[in-house]
Amino acid sequence: MGARILVVEDEAAIQDLIALNLNQAGHDPHLAPDAQSALEHVRDSLPDLVLVDWMLPGMSGIDLVRRLRAQERTRQIPIIMLTARVEEGDKLLGLESGADDYITKPFSIRELNARIKAVLRRRAPQMTEDQVKFKELTLDPSTHRISVGDTEVNLGPTEFKLLHFFMTHPERVYSRTQILDHVWGDHVFIEERTVDVHIRRLRAALEPSGADRLLQTVRGAGYRLTALP
Ligand code: CA
Repeated sequence: MGARILVVEDEAAIQDLIALNLNQAGHDPHLAPDAQSALEHVRDSLPDLVLVDWMLPGMSGIDLVRRLRAQERTRQIPIIMLTARVEEGDKLLGLESGADDYITKPFSIRELNARIKAVLRRRAPQMTEDQVKFKELTLDPSTHRISVGDTEVNLGPTEFKLLHFFMTHPERVYSRTQILDHVWGDHVFIEERTVDVHIRRLRAALEPSGADRLLQTVRGAGYRLTALP
């Protein structure tokens, strides 16, 4: 499953190279030439991962990372910093500012892909192809299959993503806005009741197996996948 990756880089040649590579790896790249446009982008649509160049015109990459880490909504976004070799001594500063990892330029495409994969696995498991199990539910992103015990369950693509998100983030309540951010990547143009519609469909699909009991409505707060009755 491809990740929405925001690439914040002012050098057009590097931006193109990264975008091309991310597309080939099945991701969905979005480009921002500076920190200001990156912040505007994030305000509308939450990416699954941000690649930030250290040296940017205006606000630096480090300050952008600090801004993202300071806000509740963007605090958890996985971030990888791109640094030039001359800044290597400042790597610690990059990690202390809140980046999850850094890559030194020039980097190979293979290294970029490996780092993205590792950071997503650690920080956004719903974006990886790893099989997930929760109680009697098993979800396999690579084959797009869900089973409850031995019985296969058929879900539409949105319900699949929704269940994948909940299974990788169990026992936590998510508001409709947070669910839109994480599953749809957009909390501005999509109405909150869209979430309710897809939760209803997901529950209906799980109901024959009884697994719909795992997906709870938390009044006034949102939804939660839980093993507790
Ligand atoms: Ca730069």
